[in-house]
Amino acid sequence: MRLRCPHCDTLGTITTTKALSATVSQHYVICSNHECGHTWRATTEADMTISPSATPDPAVSLPLSSHMRRDVIAHQIRSGATAEYTPLKTPPTTRDLFQPADAGGPS
Ligand SMILES: [Zn+2]
Repeated sequence: MRLRCPHCDTLGTITTTKALSATVSQHYVICSNHECGHTWRATTEADMTISPSATPDPAVSLPLSSHMRRDVIAHQIRSGATAEYTPLKTPPTTRDLFQPADAGGPS
């Protein structure tokens, strides 16, 4: 992600990011316009879900976009078939409530 310099409108590069919470981060940014050279701090916040996560963190609660077809999504989750898949990058933070504890799932 790049941010626009408030002085010259050139894109700046984020050099450091500090997470303040699951939804808020502070970024330290350097303007890439060498004639400007502005360095600043910016704060970003996740404020809406546009597409739901497949591995949602139960502690994160964001409003859902009004364009989401909640009734269709709920129907698909309830009635869709399950295809076996092992996450490569983002294992779920919670395992299935009905999965035995010794099934080898993430804890
Ligand atoms: Zn600048």
